[in-house]
Amino acid sequence: MLTARLPILIGEAIDKIMSSVPKGDVEKVSLLEASGRYLAEDIFANHDVPSFDRSLYDGYALKAEDTLKATIESPIEFEVVGHIGAGSVFQEEVKNYEAVRIMTGAEMPKNCNTMVMLEQVKELKKEGNHFILIDQQISINERVFKKGTEIKEGTQLVKKGARITPGIVGLLATFGFSEVLVRVKPKVGVLATGSELLEVNEPLAPGKIRNSNSYMLMSQIEKVGATPIYLGKLEDDLEKSFKAIQDALRQVDILITTGGVSVGDFDYLPEIYSRLQAEVLFNKISMRPGSVTTVAKLQNQFLFGLSGNPSASFIGFELFVRPVLRILLGNDDPHLPSIQAILTEDFPIPNGFTQLIRMKVKVEGTKVFVTSNGLNMSSSITSIAGADALVVLPPSENGYAKGNVVDVLLLSDEGQNKSFFNR
Ligand code: AMP
Ligand code: MG
Repeated sequence: MLTARLPILIGEAIDKIMSSVPKGDVEKVSLLEASGRYLAEDIFANHDVPSFDRSLYDGYALKAEDTLKATIESPIEFEVVGHIGAGSVFQEEVKNYEAVRIMTGAEMPKNCNTMVMLEQVKELKKEGNHFILIDQQISINERVFKKGTEIKEGTQLVKKGARITPGIVGLLATFGFSEVLVRVKPKVGVLATGSELLEVNEPLAPGKIRNSNSYMLMSQIEKVGATPIYLGKLEDDLEKSFKAIQDALRQVDILITTGGVSVGDFDYLPEIYSRLQAEVLFNKISMRPGSVTTVAKLQNQFLFGLSGNPSASFIGFELFVRPVLRILLGNDDPHLPSIQAILTEDFPIPNGFTQLIRMKVKVEGTKVFVTSNGLNMSSSITSIAGADALVVLPPSENGYAKGNVVDVLLLSDEGQNKSFFNR
């Protein structure tokens, strides 16, 4: 049983967690329900795209060889023998010096091998018949989107594990997937500890604060694509907490608790892990905020003991819980994306632990800058909303200065205020 508190590196903590994540179950859902889910099957093209030669414009389909001698001085006349819109097929044979009026997306008549656009021809009406004049040579397959040019049957389109985006939904629809195999959403229980906690709808009372962590965490769980389960809050009472956590573990795949994981007099989580005979993977990480973050395992179930401090709890989820959920969901890229950016302010305070700072990212020209998004304290709640990045400041004797290039983990999947094209 791990009781001593020896800080390990963030990377080591992640390795310990990631070495034993099982894969979740799969289920079929309808395409309408597939958005945001994680694919549990590889998707292959089950036909060519286009699946037939299609006209790319509105115009006339004809035989390229008939235009060989066409010039401005001596245009060639074609009789228009048919008219087809998208979705229709011209069944008859097209003879030499005949043309078929064709609309964008319509299938090319079988013995036509090219097309001219409406704007390229002169229309003639003679004795009730319809002719066109062509005054230039047209090459074969001009403006024809040939069968299989975009994708060939059998090509892999999407790998299993991908999160289903609108673009993927479009592909699934194109290839006739009215149902698709996805990973079952893991059930993630959220249990807050602390006798100081009030429910959100309760008025403030002396010494009390509202339980913000549970709701923030449930929102983070939703964002990753798992199912959050609110399990309420616990007063700091060992017996009651032990029982509540035992009950909780029967209902969920993963349990997140916040608070009670430190070394204070009422921090009962370490004792509860011990009573459960859970394997504590680590109980101290060299990071701020969240150095007391503890992760334990009971058979296949993870127990994430996040610090009660809101910023620590938020970051603990993003660094440790999110990747576990994404692996459970079959994804191969479970970690937050990272970039590099330039600090716009000094962080002169030396720190023996890696700091993770909630910041805003701003792009100016080809440069990316990061600026603090409020109070840099583990208890801060206001610095989380609006932060689109966690800036990583490794241990340093002298701190960091404005202008330093730092690593940045991106949190945001939001857009920007103005369209790129209207700036
Ligand atoms: P703990 O980790 O239990 O020592 O809590 C650390 C700090 O976070 C304390 O100031 C708590 O009051 C606060 N805190 C604990 N749980 C929550 C919660 N669910 N929502 C907001 N703040 C909390
Ligand atoms: Mg507490």
